[in-house]
Amino acid sequence: MDYFVPDWNDVVDPWFNFPLDKPSGEHLRDPAKTDVRAHELFPLGEIPYDGILVSRMTFAPGAGVLQKAREASLRLRFRLPDELLLMADCGAWGYVDRDEPPFDSEEILDFYADGGFDYGVSIDHMIVDSIIEDDITRPLTKEEKERRWDITVENGKEILNLSRKRHLNGKPRLVGAIQGWNEESYVRAAEQLLGEGYDFIGIGGLARAPTSGILRVAAAVSRSIQSYGRRSGRRIDLHIFGITRMKVVSELARLGVTSFDSASLLRKAWLSKDENYYLDDKTAYAAVRIPHSSRSTRIRARLASGEMKSERLHDLETDALAAARNYALGEVDLEMAVSAIAKYDFAALGLRGDIRRDLRRTLRAKPWEQCACPLCCKIGVEIILHRGNDRNRRRGFHNLWVFHKYLRKLVPRILVLTNCTQKKHGRRSDLPAYLRYSKSDTFQLWWKNLREVRGIDLGVLSAEHGVVPWWKPIPNYNKRIEELSQEEKLRLEKKVSMVLLRYDLVFFSGLGEYGRMMRKLALSANPRVELFPKKELSSRKLDLLELKRQIPDMRGAVLKAVSASGGRGLDLF
Ligand SMILES: [Zn+2]
Repeated sequence: MDYFVPDWNDVVDPWFNFPLDKPSGEHLRDPAKTDVRAHELFPLGEIPYDGILVSRMTFAPGAGVLQKAREASLRLRFRLPDELLLMADCGAWGYVDRDEPPFDSEEILDFYADGGFDYGVSIDHMIVDSIIEDDITRPLTKEEKERRWDITVENGKEILNLSRKRHLNGKPRLVGAIQGWNEESYVRAAEQLLGEGYDFIGIGGLARAPTSGILRVAAAVSRSIQSYGRRSGRRIDLHIFGITRMKVVSELARLGVTSFDSASLLRKAWLSKDENYYLDDKTAYAAVRIPHSSRSTRIRARLASGEMKSERLHDLETDALAAARNYALGEVDLEMAVSAIAKYDFAALGLRGDIRRDLRRTLRAKPWEQCACPLCCKIGVEIILHRGNDRNRRRGFHNLWVFHKYLRKLVPRILVLTNCTQKKHGRRSDLPAYLRYSKSDTFQLWWKNLREVRGIDLGVLSAEHGVVPWWKPIPNYNKRIEELSQEEKLRLEKKVSMVLLRYDLVFFSGLGEYGRMMRKLALSANPRVELFPKKELSSRKLDLLELKRQIPDMRGAVLKAVSASGGRGLDLF
């Protein structure tokens, strides 16, 4: 299951000077070039998400940002590794109160195609119970709800047809967004879009729904998708937009949901009252609040009112920071640290309940010492301080890392691969991989055996492109692994190993040089690679006939691995 993090320009200064509390010179000179997103702070196998979701609404018209997005693809601008996915949607919550979405399909398709996105979501319109009109909340009528449903479905059809007319060949792969007010209306929308030719459905409008409601809709749509997939022989993915309670995630995986997005664990790092830092799936801590006396608007207001002298406040702030740091070093005891921090808190923010209890709990546990993420290892106690973007966002990245680890434990990432074939579909323009290789009997057999299996990624190992996801459009080419030079082979091997890093279990079915390469990669400990055809399943030599004969065996092994995953939910997240 792929986890996408919605992007709200979540960047930090990679060289921020924590002891001096100062941004780096590079950041001051050119923040746009210097600042990094979370994926640049973690090694590839540890990046705490599988993709980034960008909303068109975050590109305010006239802000010039859109222009920049077109000049260079966002993938380049975000310096997003090839192994991660880039998805774009319209950000329908941003125009929920309007009569109609403020975009049209032409414009959105331009945005998606120019931005270099892997996935682009059709324009949807939220079906909510009430909207705000002229500052007054009023309910949506039944007719209005139906109209929004129509707008969403029609937009879905329109953008897919436009993309076909423009021969975009699945660049980006379009996600048909659906909205509804009950299971039946969601399913009806999904069926319309599937009938139009979509192989990816995205369920919107559930961000504020109760857990039971999310699960009911997801189950109904997933059932309909799977039955459609069986009838049509198509593999269909399912995304859920805006998950806020991570509890549902394992259940969603079980239902066959293939991806979801959520910003909540990132943003809780600074927005939650007392769950700012997750140590694991059971334990969360409040951050230690030592806000900047010179930057907080609340503090500035207190200073302006004359309640507190600026110099005095600054001294208390310095004491509080020193107390936290010295406590972490073991040079100050717990009560002294709590007292110094609470003193500044009271002076800066006034009386706001008993903060000492949370403070004591966090400091006593020293959770930053127990976390193995690269950020906690590098900046230590600074990560727990609620103070400025560079600490708060890093704490959010840490939360994502903890969550993603648990997610992978609960729903292991499984990749099922086969090698590319010499026989290919001859069309010159790009074709999704599963169609490109569809002329080969062996590939067809492999595809038919696996296309309906949920909970796995399917891909082709290509001498030209490395690991190609089944849906990814590729040009026609003629390159065989046997023809590669030693250097090219090593380069391919490196490329493939980078992809494998992001998985917990890999199945490969193939022969010859491809098999040899995968056998070599399987020797490294991470991840586990299971190779087919297997000697122990046969008394004859492992040739093409045997490979074909063992494809159902591989399917069996894959199904077993999928059903072994899962388990108890993520209670706390
Ligand atoms: Zn950490």
